[in-house]
Amino acid sequence: MDKHIETTAITAGRPDIAPDASLNPPVVLTSTFHSGGPIGYGRYGNQTWSALESAIGELEGGSTLIFSSGMAAISAVFSILPIGAPIVASNQGYSGVMTLLNAFHESGRLEVRFVDVVNTNEVIEAMKGCALVWLESPTNPCLDVAELEILIAHAKKLGIGVAVDNTFATPLVQNPLAMGADIVMHSVTKFLSGHSDVLMGSLSTNDPALLKRLTDSRSFNGSIPGPFEAWLALRGLRTFPLRFNKSQESAKILIERLKVHPKIRRVRYPGFGAIISFEVDGTGEQTQKVCDSSRLITHATSLGGVESLWERRRRWPMESLSVPEQLIRLSVGCEHVEDIWNDIEEALASI
Ligand SMILES: *Cc1c(COP(=O)(O)O)cnc(C)c1O
Repeated sequence: MDKHIETTAITAGRPDIAPDASLNPPVVLTSTFHSGGPIGYGRYGNQTWSALESAIGELEGGSTLIFSSGMAAISAVFSILPIGAPIVASNQGYSGVMTLLNAFHESGRLEVRFVDVVNTNEVIEAMKGCALVWLESPTNPCLDVAELEILIAHAKKLGIGVAVDNTFATPLVQNPLAMGADIVMHSVTKFLSGHSDVLMGSLSTNDPALLKRLTDSRSFNGSIPGPFEAWLALRGLRTFPLRFNKSQESAKILIERLKVHPKIRRVRYPGFGAIISFEVDGTGEQTQKVCDSSRLITHATSLGGVESLWERRRRWPMESLSVPEQLIRLSVGCEHVEDIWNDIEEALASI
């Protein structure tokens, strides 16, 4: 039966049906297993991980590995590249990845060709002779959108590996594996788990050889999640489509009002999703004051939870200087949209 994502999120990763079998997977808290089975030791596998992995795998359409954080998943991808391998990556994107790639480039671990990801010709030009194209779309926090289908098709023609960070779009909006990408990555911390109570990452792929190398990377670098965190993430995943759709609906209402607000000079929104980045018509300090003035929206980093969060990204010294000082990234939660809007209006009135 071909199911909708809303249904798959609820049915996937359940134990086999048998009388008195539990409806939900148990939290398997053990470091070791009786000999003779395929797992053996808690760094190689865990039944609670497997439940979450099969659920994300069904949503993304590939075999899935979960990691201790999104960054751990990303690091596993880079860990299997040869020393000095040339790769293409966006010149602005998630600050953790930017920091890591800059360090890799400076040390010679990788040769990173940084590109403007919305400039399709520039990205294609940079691909020649590369080992991997790392794509994040939409980007965090500027919400730039890459022409994924064109870029992936071109990379595949050249035989270059493609990995896509699908954290912002989620499988409800785009399926990079179906477009031909080799790896799709998630910060499960965000929309998939959705309650700001767990850090986790995932990689999905349809290439068995690649899956083996990534599994080895996780097993021997030890970047494994805890079984309880996997259980929490799966519990959150059940409602991911409900939450995402609700937040997206509210985001679409909010952008129309933000666009005409006299204290806002630019609104960035890719047309889908629950993240809005907007620029306050004022200084960085005034923008900071807006973030500090909210009473409903939490002033905090991260995104994708049921709670609306916002922050001025440039408060982080590691954030790219290309991100405007006045940019606020708002993660629209599941509160009533009028309450969110009232809070935004009041916070903007503080300057
Ligand atoms: C948060 C985030 C990451 C990193 O994930 P963690 O779970 O915080 O390690 C990577 N990519 C994007 C787009 C993110 O938003």
